[in-house]
Amino acid sequence: MKILKTVIEMQNWSDAQRLKKRSIGFVPTMGAIHDGHSSLVRRSRQENQATVVSIFVNPAQFGPQEDFHAYPRPRTLDLKILRAHNVDLVFAPTVHEMYKNDFSTCVEESVRSKGLCADTRPDHFRGVTTIVTKLFIAVNPHNAYFGEKDYQQLKIIQKMVKDLGFNIKVIGCPVVRESDGLARSSRNKYLDREHRAKALLVYSSLQKAVEMIKSKNKISDIYAYIHRLWQQHDTCRLEYIRVVDPETLEEKHTFVGRIRVLIAATVGNTRLIDTIEIRR
Ligand code: AMP
Repeated sequence: MKILKTVIEMQNWSDAQRLKKRSIGFVPTMGAIHDGHSSLVRRSRQENQATVVSIFVNPAQFGPQEDFHAYPRPRTLDLKILRAHNVDLVFAPTVHEMYKNDFSTCVEESVRSKGLCADTRPDHFRGVTTIVTKLFIAVNPHNAYFGEKDYQQLKIIQKMVKDLGFNIKVIGCPVVRESDGLARSSRNKYLDREHRAKALLVYSSLQKAVEMIKSKNKISDIYAYIHRLWQQHDTCRLEYIRVVDPETLEEKHTFVGRIRVLIAATVGNTRLIDTIEIRR
């Protein structure tokens, strides 16, 4: 497995693969590799001749009070897992490689990046679209794999790729969960025993919302019920639960066709998100 740290080396490798007519699948990550990431890698390996995984903890997508410095960086273990997956190349640039001191350009999607997670993380998606653009330019993949767990992010990136005309297929992959339903996340490491148990409320809220949608409850009643559920836990805070159109992310008031339920909450000090889709 090759490990590269500079954009120019990455581009040269990618050009060489393309000359050999090898298709390149790309999985961008911030490291702390878990089964959610692994599912994207497996999908890329199935669908491409070469797979690139990037590991980059992107400062631009963290707010000033967020966990950029504390974010887990188990680099040796990450490389071991990716090697076991037969990844062809890991692109792991430094912050300085991606953001030179005078960096002053950003990429911003302006519709889907509003509301939901952006209400509490106002600059987050601009940081994501900027780094994903830079990674796309470095890796120049044919296919890129993103998790549906970060559903708003997935839809923003798909829109950005369409708007800017990147010749890259962005493929969304289903949420991978622990056996009890908690969505896998690098941030699950932050949960102590008490909050690990309480974190189950995230997925059970989604399941309850789906059940209430299926039994034709009013949307306002669903929201009120879930909010009441969270109020019973003093170290947990529901940020939002929202029923949306899976493509536009606009709030849905009639339950026909495809429906996405999105949730974000803080459990102890850990922010967790999750999502589920149903079709009626
Ligand atoms: P991250 O390292 O958290 O930035 O995640 C890198 C990629 O893995 C993103 O596309 C995430 O949506 C995806 N991902 C993270 N957790 C999961 C999960 N539990 N299931 C599926 N994909 C995931």
